Amino acid sequence: MNDAFFDIHSGLPREGPGDEASTVRALSYIRELPAQPIVLDVGCGPGAQTLVLARETGGVVTAVDNHAPFLDDLRERAARAGLAGRIQTVNASMLELPFDDASFDLIWSEGAIYNVGFDKGLRSWRRFLRPGGWIAVTEAAWLLGDPPRELLEFWQACYPAIRMVDENLAAICGDGYDLAGHFVLPDSSWWDAYYVPIMAKLPRLREKYKDDAEALKVLDEHDLEIDLFRKYSAYYGYVFFIMKRPD
Ligand code: SAH
Repeated sequence: MNDAFFDIHSGLPREGPGDEASTVRALSYIRELPAQPIVLDVGCGPGAQTLVLARETGGVVTAVDNHAPFLDDLRERAARAGLAGRIQTVNASMLELPFDDASFDLIWSEGAIYNVGFDKGLRSWRRFLRPGGWIAVTEAAWLLGDPPRELLEFWQACYPAIRMVDENLAAICGDGYDLAGHFVLPDSSWWDAYYVPIMAKLPRLREKYKDDAEALKVLDEHDLEIDLFRKYSAYYGYVFFIMKRPD
């Protein structure tokens, strides 16, 4: 992470689109969890959804991220929320998760599976679920075909693997999961805890980095991303997919 990127992304409430109501809604698709489920949150970031998972499931959550400062934030937030006893942080890569097979009732990942790829993530994390366990992830997807050219160019540069929602649904079935449901996150989940806090930081960072062309480029990229969402959010969104590993 370079300095400007770190400045933008430190201390934010979330590190991607998401909101508490959507986490709770995704949980409502999940049935037959034990009273105190063992939960894994992959790519937890500063842990907004980790806190909701611990509170709502009554279980124990292992939260994994490869960026240690986010885990520091999460431990502080967990302590403030009185949930420290039920949230454990692990600094590890989602590409090599250090857990035994079949050790979780529920795997969660908001705004992070893209780092390994949707299909590869679902396939490689499956063995950590007990048979009959559940997995819920959010992933960016096209909601409309034929996107405007500047939008297509942006996604081709930053995440060319983005697909139509139906293609993700087909992949889930092809991987042997049973789909329990899916829904698109509201636009407010991009703005309230992610883009708005970033926008609030940008003017000060433009001043701080005014003589650093590379840093200014990073700030410009964030401006562009936010601008594209403002213009074209009908074309793409984050989608929650909730599925079950068959017994
Ligand atoms: N779930 C959080 C964070 C989403 S951003 C939220 O919604 O707010 C994606 C997260 O994945 C970041 O915290 C980033 O540090 C983490 N990440 C990226 N690559 C990773 C990897 N290879 N292993 C583990 N975590 C990774």
